[in-house]
Amino acid sequence: MQRESSVSSDAEATSSTCTFCQLNCIATYIMKETATFRIVADHAPLLEGHLLIVPKAHYACYGAVPAALDAELLALKREVQQFFACYYAPPVFWEHGVFRQTVFHAHLHCFPFGDLAYPLDQARHQRAVNSQDDVRAWYAEHGHYFYLGDMQRAFLFDPNMIDYQYIVQHVLGPGVLARSAYTGWRTTQQRQVEGKPLVEHLITNWRAFQQ
Ligand SMILES: [Zn+2]
Ligand SMILES: [Zn+2]
Repeated sequence: MQRESSVSSDAEATSSTCTFCQLNCIATYIMKETATFRIVADHAPLLEGHLLIVPKAHYACYGAVPAALDAELLALKREVQQFFACYYAPPVFWEHGVFRQTVFHAHLHCFPFGDLAYPLDQARHQRAVNSQDDVRAWYAEHGHYFYLGDMQRAFLFDPNMIDYQYIVQHVLGPGVLARSAYTGWRTTQQRQVEGKPLVEHLITNWRAFQQ
């Protein structure tokens, strides 16, 4: 299996060229800030509720995020879980551990898909994840990955297109179709245009949830 480029190339996108490091790029999408994280509405949502948990500092992926941030990350995942329970459906978490990333700065996608529809008998994953330590260990040892999970279980996958497309076709795609009016996969540009009212609605719900 062919791997993407080595970990050393992850530093290519520096904070000076990175969308998530340019506050003016993301200002209108920021929903919450903590000491070390932001919760940000995805600018091209796959469905309403699609948001990101993003460390403020520039890391290539969560495999490179230090353990000191784990507690805050978990607290934010729980907050998203509570928010989704009020307005949407339980969260599914997804990360491009650099593999197929479009912004080269760690970000955890949160989708209100409900129960994680990953068929374990397919055994596409390389590792079950019990904590962020497992993600760091994989990244240190193997480099790139992709990650899928919910609040109960999570999995790391080898960065190859066959397993990636399997997850897109069998988990992410159906998750979107089941909880939106969309009937097919759309381009980022389409999602950005069509997503404007979804982002507004998400942020309105978030403000109500925070009160
Ligand atoms: Zn960055
Ligand atoms: Zn992404």
